[in-house]
Amino acid sequence: MAVAPHTFEDLRAATLSDVDPEIADLLGQELERERGEIELIASENFTWPATLEAAGSVPTNKYSEGYPGRRYYGGCEIVDEIEQLAIDRARTLFDAQHANVQPHAGAQTNMAVYFACLEPGDTILSLSLSHGGHLTHGLKVNFSGRLYDIQHYGVSRETSLVDYDDVLRLAKEHRPKLIVCGGSAYPRTVETLRFREIADEVGALLLCDMAHFAGLVAAGIQPNPVADCDFVTSTTHKTLAGPRGGFILCREEHAQAVDRAVFPGMQGGPLNHVIAAKATCFKIAATEPFREYQQQIRTNADALAETLQEGGVEVLTGGTDTHLLLIDLRRSEWSGKDAEERLAKAGITVNRNTIPFDERPPTIASGVRLGTPAVTMRGFDEDDIREVGRIIVSVLSQGADLEALAARSAALCERRPLYPEMDAFPTFGAAGA
Ligand SMILES: *Cc1c(COP(=O)(O)O)cnc(C)c1O
Repeated sequence: MAVAPHTFEDLRAATLSDVDPEIADLLGQELERERGEIELIASENFTWPATLEAAGSVPTNKYSEGYPGRRYYGGCEIVDEIEQLAIDRARTLFDAQHANVQPHAGAQTNMAVYFACLEPGDTILSLSLSHGGHLTHGLKVNFSGRLYDIQHYGVSRETSLVDYDDVLRLAKEHRPKLIVCGGSAYPRTVETLRFREIADEVGALLLCDMAHFAGLVAAGIQPNPVADCDFVTSTTHKTLAGPRGGFILCREEHAQAVDRAVFPGMQGGPLNHVIAAKATCFKIAATEPFREYQQQIRTNADALAETLQEGGVEVLTGGTDTHLLLIDLRRSEWSGKDAEERLAKAGITVNRNTIPFDERPPTIASGVRLGTPAVTMRGFDEDDIREVGRIIVSVLSQGADLEALAARSAALCERRPLYPEMDAFPTFGAAGA
């Protein structure tokens, strides 16, 4: 349709670019932005075309409050099958007794677990935010910090690793009802068995928030926290490479409490189109190509850490066990904010991040968090990521020619095109043309 739709009949047949060339154009611009920058934000990824297709599908039209076989609406036969597939695949993938795939995002997974096992005022012991925790682990202005008594453990000043003796000491002192492990900026393995021993010693429940590293767990590269924990929460859109969303795994004894906490406790109707895409994400995550992809994420993260350190850039803990690493800028002339802005000029997208015992406020910060899931998804190998590392080293040195470095970034992006088939997707076709 070349002209703007004028009638109801027109609208019922119109494409996005017919109806809304402004938004269509912006979507096209976002695609070009994603294609043209080196994406190192550790929490981001480029999902599969297959999950994009499922996420943009007609179950968005369907109300289905409740759970498969127990809905408050008619016409749920098909979405029941979709959700049941997602549940079964999640359980199989992570060897879990129970799965809830309805949480709209990661924040809702943690809210649901807290609602399932705590009363307002109860005590949670979690990783301090400035040491790598997440805002839903107790930030004062977040619901978690407002509803619960939050106590934090941190990492050791010397090693930047979780100090398990300190966790035990704090657990004995504060007697938390729930201990939370995992975080958003912790580059090393979360030792859930040690947390389990501590939780058992003080009679606490244990939640592992694997939002960041779930893909590595699915691939068997990081240990599966399910056996050690009462609850495991995750997003689907980080290393797991699925649609934007969340899911909860738990022991059978907590299944009913978790399901009730999600609905009717905190959400209305599930996003059935996204649940379809989650099902596809879990199916893909059980395959050998997915395992190879996750292995390459790890290989690239190690190669990046190595290249940075060879170039004199400090990496917290000396490297990583996962997909993410933290640059420690304390002994450099740059703040995290400076580095983020300079890297952007060189075509590299990152986020500033506080590092443990940071003396700068979070808006400035003394660190930069880097992750390899997204660039690995577009095909970057070790040679490519070493070139990225060298560009970063140059950006963080004196008198760098940022324009010349941006050209090197652009060359890498051109060599590893993102979504090369995407123009075939009607939604992203020649916008506004
Ligand atoms: C990203 C993240 C979340 C929240 O996910 P959203 O989808 O942004 O709500 C929760 N916990 C951890 C550890 C995370 O990294």
